[in-house]
Amino acid sequence: KNIKILLFRRISKMNQCFGCNTCASADKKLEGYIRELPMETSHHRVEGQSTKCGFGLQGVCCRLCANGPCRITPKAPRGICGATADVIVARNFLRAVASGSGCYIHIVENTALNVKKTAMAKGEIKGEKSLQRLAEIFGVEGKDKWETAQIVAQKVLDDLYKPEYEKMELVEKMAYAPRFKKWQELDILPGGAKGEVFHGVVKCSTNLNSDPVDMLTDCLKLGISTGIYGLTLTNLLNDVLLGEPELRLAPVGLRVIDPDYINIMITGHQHTIFVDLQERLTSKEAVEKAKAAGAKGFKLVGCTCVGQDLQLRGAHYTEVFDGHAGNNYSSEAVLATGGIDAVLSEFNCTLPGIEPICEELKIKQICLDDVAKKANAELKPYVFEEREKQSEEIIDEIIAAYKERRGSVPLNLMPEHGNDNTLTGVSEGSLKEFLGGNWKPLIDLIVSGDIKGIAGVVGCSNLTAGGHDVLTVEMTKELIAKDILVLTAGCSSGGIENCGLMTPEAAKYAGPKLRAVCEKLNIPPVLNFGPCLAIGRLEIVATELAEAIGVDIPQLPLVLSAAQWLEEQALADGCFGLALGLPLHLGLPPFVTGSKLVTKVLTEDMKSLTGGQVIINGDAKESADILDKIIEEKRAGLNI
Ligand code: SF4
Repeated sequence: KNIKILLFRRISKMNQCFGCNTCASADKKLEGYIRELPMETSHHRVEGQSTKCGFGLQGVCCRLCANGPCRITPKAPRGICGATADVIVARNFLRAVASGSGCYIHIVENTALNVKKTAMAKGEIKGEKSLQRLAEIFGVEGKDKWETAQIVAQKVLDDLYKPEYEKMELVEKMAYAPRFKKWQELDILPGGAKGEVFHGVVKCSTNLNSDPVDMLTDCLKLGISTGIYGLTLTNLLNDVLLGEPELRLAPVGLRVIDPDYINIMITGHQHTIFVDLQERLTSKEAVEKAKAAGAKGFKLVGCTCVGQDLQLRGAHYTEVFDGHAGNNYSSEAVLATGGIDAVLSEFNCTLPGIEPICEELKIKQICLDDVAKKANAELKPYVFEEREKQSEEIIDEIIAAYKERRGSVPLNLMPEHGNDNTLTGVSEGSLKEFLGGNWKPLIDLIVSGDIKGIAGVVGCSNLTAGGHDVLTVEMTKELIAKDILVLTAGCSSGGIENCGLMTPEAAKYAGPKLRAVCEKLNIPPVLNFGPCLAIGRLEIVATELAEAIGVDIPQLPLVLSAAQWLEEQALADGCFGLALGLPLHLGLPPFVTGSKLVTKVLTEDMKSLTGGQVIINGDAKESADILDKIIEEKRAGLNI
């Protein structure tokens, strides 16, 4: 019955039509701007795609062989091969989690390679503290910082390249000891991360595994390897090359686009690819070239997670970074301003929908990683050894695009969008430092009830859970009103910050106790950890809090919500959350409701395995109430 209600709600939400041919956004200024655009965006296409396939929604469509597609119904409960709804749903789910994990492992692999090559070339290491921290965790030391960085990066790579049947070594060093023990007991410690992806893909192919529980077990293994390597370690390796996050107030939204500069929008997830270019764009030679073309210089405009990551470290890049403009489903609007001269992309979430807009507005597209190649973009795969030459070529090509398009392409800027004082640079390190170097002040606030608990609002933005960022922002408002501190990571951060909830003034939306804390500390009730990768930073916060209190992670008054999850990567992240033993709220079901067994394992049985649990609810108030109740239960369990 509950599943039917969920599906009905989902279909009703998707059928919401505002009669204006665009979907709703929590960001009303952006919604109005998009509605008036002369070109089509994702927001305009929602209505045309509003009739969804019920079989697809429930995950009971299989097209793994030429007998299919088979679709499970009460009258046809098995596919031609005999696969049940449980098997088909589990196979589809594992396939998605393996694919999502593969994406994150690609990111950490490239990041580790860039750290290693930089170290070999004795390049700049901006985050020496982070390097030392990693070296201590791994138990390694080199004769100087470069050798240490090389050893650290190699340790990560060695684990990634292990076969699936050999356990990765760093899991035990990185994970919280009680969690590691639990994973050992459950026999879900992952083998080599790339091997696990390969194994998962094999397992869910035609007429192979037909044990849904076995396949779900693989999802947990993939969750652990994704979380520890793709998320946590990517952040820490990024810190080594790009510098540690520092707290500061920064502008966000479409206002950050300054038409006096040559503007480059960056999209993706692999920040280390931009190390050389970031420096070179502010060099005397590059600025002189820009000036000769009629601009004041170059600016990077943040979009999607790589923009969030640059914003996080913005204190180190104030000269070249203008600010974060928006999330995945804001990217088309950012381009439509006409103020962007080039898009540099290296991973998702680079929407195919930007292609015609770039074409129309003569925006140069360059892809730096072929996995994210856009049809009308130039492919220039990043090669570390050729980085200087590549940066020069990119700069010259972008100047040429600037000269060709400026003056002939109309500007449609929105300087009133966003705000100037979003708190950024929040990380496990900067937050702890802000609190005086340890977590005691935060723990005291939780114990006293001034902060009832913590909700990690993470993951993407989608256009279906009520519209662009609608569920995320509404639910976040409900949570802070209940005195629950919200920490964000992912494109959800981009939506929430543009709606103003990360400014110190947003304290007024919080419940009386949290509001008093925020006003005293001059912080917002929603703290922005940046990109989706920073879910790994939230895991560090959870681990250190649990360690300081002397409990396991599932006992903490801490919940996760990927209210508007979008991609397969989010499902792999979600499996990490489950392996950590955290309650995980999703606004939309992950295409599993066609299987009673899979739904039951994820929403009920998981509690007795890892302590985690999936909660599916698409209503902001109801979702916040459910999460609040869980936090109350966890508090009661800790006698606070
Ligand atoms: Fe149908 Fe089985 Fe083939 Fe899937 S694998 S399409 S369920 S016959």
